[in-house]
Order: sequence, then C-alpha cells, then structure tokens
Amino acid sequence: MKQFQLSISSVDKAGDALRELKNKTGAGLESRMLFQVFSGSMDRASADCIASCLAEEFPGAHYVGCSTSGNIIRGDLSPDPYAVICTVFEDPSARIETRQYHLGRENVDRVIREVAQFANENAWVKAIMLYTTVWETSMSSLCSELDQVRGDVQILGGGAFNEALDSSSSFVLSTGGKPEDHSIVFSFIGSDSLVVRTRYISGWKPLGKEMEITKARGNILEEIEGVSAFETYRRYLKIENDDTFLFNTLEFPYTISYHGVEILRHPQQCLEDGSLVMASDVERAGKIRLAYGDPVTIMENVFQNVQEISREEPDVISIFSCAGRKAFWGDEEIGNETRAFQNIAPSAGFYTLSEFLRTGEYVNQHNLTLVIASMKEELEGKEERNEEKPAYEHRTRRRISTVERLANFIEEATRELEAANERLFDMNCKLSDMAITDGMTSLYNRSEIQRRISERAERDDDEISSVIMLDLDDFKKINDTFGHKEGDLVICELSSLMKTCAAEVPSSSVGRWGGEEFMILLPGTDARGALLIAEKIRKGFKKISFPHAGNRTVSLGVAQRSKGENADALVLRADKALYEAKNSGKDRSVVL
Ligand code: GH3
Ligand code: MG
Ligand code: MG
Repeated sequence: MKQFQLSISSVDKAGDALRELKNKTGAGLESRMLFQVFSGSMDRASADCIASCLAEEFPGAHYVGCSTSGNIIRGDLSPDPYAVICTVFEDPSARIETRQYHLGRENVDRVIREVAQFANENAWVKAIMLYTTVWETSMSSLCSELDQVRGDVQILGGGAFNEALDSSSSFVLSTGGKPEDHSIVFSFIGSDSLVVRTRYISGWKPLGKEMEITKARGNILEEIEGVSAFETYRRYLKIENDDTFLFNTLEFPYTISYHGVEILRHPQQCLEDGSLVMASDVERAGKIRLAYGDPVTIMENVFQNVQEISREEPDVISIFSCAGRKAFWGDEEIGNETRAFQNIAPSAGFYTLSEFLRTGEYVNQHNLTLVIASMKEELEGKEERNEEKPAYEHRTRRRISTVERLANFIEEATRELEAANERLFDMNCKLSDMAITDGMTSLYNRSEIQRRISERAERDDDEISSVIMLDLDDFKKINDTFGHKEGDLVICELSSLMKTCAAEVPSSSVGRWGGEEFMILLPGTDARGALLIAEKIRKGFKKISFPHAGNRTVSLGVAQRSKGENADALVLRADKALYEAKNSGKDRSVVL
C-alpha cells in the first residue's frame, strides 16, 4: 500500500498537481486507487472542480471527500485549503467501491439497509469509511442502523464540517455524486491481504462523581440531577455563560458511557434556561460525568497509542480528528499530537464535526476524539522495513501532570465519600429497622404496631379491618419449670407461626405487644375472616411439640373495627375478648 499526499493552495493549481502525481504513479492502477478529497473551504464549486480534474487524470479511480475544518497532511495541519490523498493498493485483489446518498431522517433506514446489504453480500469488504453531513448534531439513528453491517467490517468516518453548525453549508462528494449537503458517502475497501485496525483516542479523563441526566431531548441536555445542566459548570467549575464558555467547556466536556465505550460530549451553546446544546446526542445516556482535558495528559495518551500503532507496522494511517481538538490546542499546536503518526507511516485526514467508529458491535458518534485507522497489506515477499524506528519522542518514564494528580485526588476522595455514603445509608436502613422491630422475634415492636393500628383507624375510608390479640396460656409455668430459654423458644415459634398465618392477608402486620402478648392487624378483613386466622394460629400452635414444654396453647381475642371507632377503643375490645377467652377456659378464640 502506497500513499501520495497533495496539499493544494488554490483550485487552479489542482490540474498540475494531479498531472504530476500521474507521472509518479503511472497509469493502469486506477481500479486500485482510492482518492480522498478534503476541502477546508465551503465553496462547493472549487471542490467540484478538483474532483473533475481528478476524474480526468485518473479515469476509473474512486474518490470520496467532504468539507473540513482543516486538512491533515503528513500528520500535520496543512496550511492549504485543499488536500488530495491518493492511496494505492498493491494487492491485485484489492477492490474499492463508493456510494453517495442523499440522507435525511426519513430515509436513513433505507440507505443503511442498502449499505449493509452490499457489505454483507460482498465478503471482500473489510472496512467502510463514511463521510457525512451532520444533521442537528444527533446521528443516533445512523449509528444504530449501521449495526446491521456484518460484525467483522470496520466502520469509521467523520462528519463534514460546516461553520454554521447546520447541514446546509457542509458537503460530501464522491465518484457517485456532486458536492451535496444533507448527504453521506461510503467507501468500501478490501483485498485479500488488507488488515485494517481502528481505535479511538481522546485523552480527556473522567472527573468526579457520576450524575443522573434527569431531562434531555436529542442533543439538548436540559437537567442533571434535577437542576439545569449549566449549573454543573457554574457550581463545580465556576464556568460562566459568557464569551469564554465554549473554550472553557472544551477543557471540561462531559463523558458518557455507551455500551462500555467512554464518549465525550461538549456543549456548543448554553441556552437562557440553562439547557446545553451538545455536539451530539445525549438522550440515551442516562448517566453523565464531567471530564477534564489537560495538555500533558492528552499528549501522554496520544503517545501511548502512537507506540501501539507503531507495533502494528501500518502502511498508511487515516486520521479523523475533531475540530474541537483543534480549537482546544489552537492551530499552532494541534499538529503536535498527530505529527508522530507520520513517523510510523504516511498519515492523512481531516478535522471533523464528530467522529464515527465501530467498537465491538456498536457504531458510536464521538466528539473531541481522534479516530484512527492503521492499514496495511500483508503481501508475501513484501520488503521488510529496515528504516529507523520512529523518531517520535521516546519516553521511558511517564510524566504525570499536576492536573492529573489533582484529578486523581478528587477521584479517590469522591470514591471514598461515595463508599462512606453507602455505608451510612445501609446503617440508616438498619437503624430504622431496629427502631420499629422487636429484637427477639423480629415482629414489629409495640409502638410500631400501635402506630399501624392508629393509622388504619384514622383513615377516613369505609375499609373494614380487624385485630387479634393473643396471649400464651400458663406461660409462667414454662419459665418456672423449664427455664427462660424454653420460654423464649415458645415465644419465637409462636411468632413465626403468626407471621405465616397473617401473611394470607395483604398488608397485615404482626407485633409484640408485651412479654408473651401479641397483636395482629388485618386490613380488609372482617371478624369472620379474622376468626378464621385466629383459629388457624390456635390449632397450628397446639400441634407444635416443644422439647421440654411439650404442646402448649394460646388464647385469642378478635375484634372488628366499628365505623368511626378509634384505635384505643378497638384494642380495648380485643383485650376484653382475650380476657373472656382466658376466663372461659383458655385455648380458644373469642370475638367481640
Ligand atoms: P395466663 O394463661 O393467664 O396468661 O397465665 P400466664 O402464666 O401466661 O400469665 P402472664 O401472661 O401474666 O405471664 C407473663 C409471663 O411471661 C411473665 C414473664 O416472666 C414472662 N415473660 C415475659 N416476657 C418474656 C420473655 O421474653 N421470655 C420469657 N421466657 N418469659 C417472658
Ligand atoms: Mg399468658
Ligand atoms: Mg400475659
């Protein structure tokens, strides 16, 4: 794989530059040539003119391209408005196909179905590069439709740039069509020996706690944790909504996680109500974090990736870098982060309005990110590289910036706080449980069951409810004869039996009224129903045989709440019923 890169200062120089290129490449290789045409100018006529020269000099060769926020030639920002990148595949099996479509929300599914069908039916397709104008900055449907393309095809690309941040001034172009807005271009590439590896590099790092997006619409981020999204910037970072807003938020964009991929989103505008217009869709995100970008950390991250790519020994490197990165670094410094790629292999690309990359199964729309393809043909007999190893700055010891250390400090402190909060929450739950339950039986304690009975009685509805009051018969004897331990066991067994029987009534509550006295609240149950449950408990309990105390009995008083009766009166009636049960021979239920 060979690459020739032309930087063209004006349209009238395009013809000569292309003729000169033709002299170098020779003729007859057109079917294995892929041209990329990048236009930093929004003037379509000029881009069209360059495309026509190209078609004339290289008939049959495929070309694709778009409007850009600057072109990357030999790994650096080119000073010229136009760039023509010519990639020549050496493998005779190489195939290239290009498609251009008008693209709108109404036909995205049909377009992608066609693209997926083409890729799925043509096994030679190894990668799809796309160039698209971006509509209202949310391309979620495009991304999700691209999932239909078979999984082993690499998909990457960039959004055509436009200054007004709407689709109408940007354009894409290709062998398949004139420079057009609201359009998308695909180039399908493949050969037997082609290896394409893709990756995304950001360098921005998450900072602080994860926050919930509570209101969002497409790319409009309205509220985070119930307050206006802008408030996050004001409160945590003292960023104001003035003319420094855009630049300051480039340092602190948001990061969201889609399918395990960390994706940056930066605001392009702050609306009056504190909503933020983001560079791409945030609606699906759910959770969001702030991120920070500090030059040393970003550079370190890029260089780590450069080293990895260098080991892949690519023939050429394609770069889709965000226009936001260029704004972050400035035109003077932006080349610093991509120049090292050129030391590995010819590196070219452009500054985009969002970057696209398939990672795993899913295609994501990135912002502020470098999307890179390292490509090579693994041909037999290909000469070994004996050139010097890349001359990029070799760092044996990683430098850590002060900002990164501080960010790490915040990260750790946040994690510790979150863990402490979780522990506090758990303890609070336990404490509130302890405040309403009886430790020995795990039933509600007296004040809680009393509260529940009162709450029901105070409800001004016509709901029927009943209570059962229970007391163990001759319990003192158990304690006196077999000891307190046996007495405790009897209390606990009765408790679990009561729970099981009362569970038949939804929202029932069982509480310990005192020593070996208990109270059951049965909402929605009349005296008949309550008596059935009382008898179930009485009979069930009688069947239990305790190790020392043998079989025991219990007496029960049942009362159904009369209309308008308060809790005290109801409990008093149940108590009277229980008293009657005791007085009339115990081991029975009495209804009053
Ligand atoms: P009656 O059939 O008339 O109810 O006779 P009784 O012997 O059961 O009399 P009473 O209900 O007054 O007995 C209460 C006894 O329960 C007194 C107390 O020692 C005992 N007791 C209260 N709480 C506990 C406890 O948690 N464990 C044990 N083992 N005994 C308890
Ligand atoms: Mg008793
Ligand atoms: Mg008692």
